[in-house]
Amino acid sequence: MKNLNELIRPDLQDIKPYSSARDEFEGEASIFLDANENPFENGVNRYPDPLQRKLKERIGDIKGVSVNQLFLGNGSDECIDLLFRLFCVPGKDRVSAISPSYGMYSVSAKINNIELNEILLNEDFSLPVDQIIESSKGSKLLFICSPNNPTANSFEVGDMLRIAREFEGIVVIDEAYIDFSDQPSLSKFIQEQSNLVISQTLSKAYGMAGIRLGLMIASTELIGWVNKVKPPYNINLLTQNFALQKLQHIGQTEKEILLIKEERSRLEKFLNAESRILNVYPSDANFILIRVEGADDLYDYLIKKGVVVRNRSKQPLCSNTLRLTVGTPEENNKLMEFINTYFS
Ligand code: PMP
Repeated sequence: MKNLNELIRPDLQDIKPYSSARDEFEGEASIFLDANENPFENGVNRYPDPLQRKLKERIGDIKGVSVNQLFLGNGSDECIDLLFRLFCVPGKDRVSAISPSYGMYSVSAKINNIELNEILLNEDFSLPVDQIIESSKGSKLLFICSPNNPTANSFEVGDMLRIAREFEGIVVIDEAYIDFSDQPSLSKFIQEQSNLVISQTLSKAYGMAGIRLGLMIASTELIGWVNKVKPPYNINLLTQNFALQKLQHIGQTEKEILLIKEERSRLEKFLNAESRILNVYPSDANFILIRVEGADDLYDYLIKKGVVVRNRSKQPLCSNTLRLTVGTPEENNKLMEFINTYFS
């Protein structure tokens, strides 16, 4: 990779980050007259810790990384946007992403006026490694989502590392679904491969989509740069407190992940047994992509029954596909019952 400072937007090299009242004071005090807050205690009248230190310690323990290798965002969507802002000069730079994949890479590119080079996966949704290396040359960022949304497959660790070694910019591995995967996270490679950014979220396996908490794991140097451009209090107090409390009961989350994976197998078996479903793509995530003749009709039928799935038929390589999130056992029973009646 290039030197990190060469990749940062030239006009940000000398940025002086906003310094909040709580950045400037650390220590013991009982009277806080520094931040123009309302002094009357109600649980939320004070600004939250801008660097979320307590929460990062807990998440760092869980993920096996240190606090300064962690960035927390208002969902991983904020993390994606901050990477665009930090690295890409609007109207000039270019980024690359695999396709089909998560829709926010292109939305964030558009909002930031950055050209997006989409690199089609192979027909079987595997990674076209050589083509990615060739086609992404000159891009500032390269997004690889693994397990990939909506195809549900993971890519080979060795292939992703090879791409990262050959790529001159920053490789973002979006691991939103890693907790459902049989493959390990690439987070243990952030030291030896300093252009790697691992993006994860508490929205999926951890069951906290509503509080908006995403994270990035990367070298201390890179995380330091993201901290310079983030909004001062991007993780609100309610989110920090709720996450800290919920992460004390990690055993419950582990049980839920196991159950979701069992349910995924049960759904896969059922879908594979239905001959009119043309393809059930093997899943390493908490959703299953199926290809079925007349996907729009099945989609409409399920809606009539009160079940919403995601129609991915307009995505590249995905004609006639539906993406089914694994629900509770009862919800999955209903889904299977409706699919049965649809085909009978
Ligand atoms: N990455 C991927 C691959 C996703 O599918 C999603 C959500 N659909 C996100 C990121 C966004 O996650 P968050 O809720 O943390 O913003």
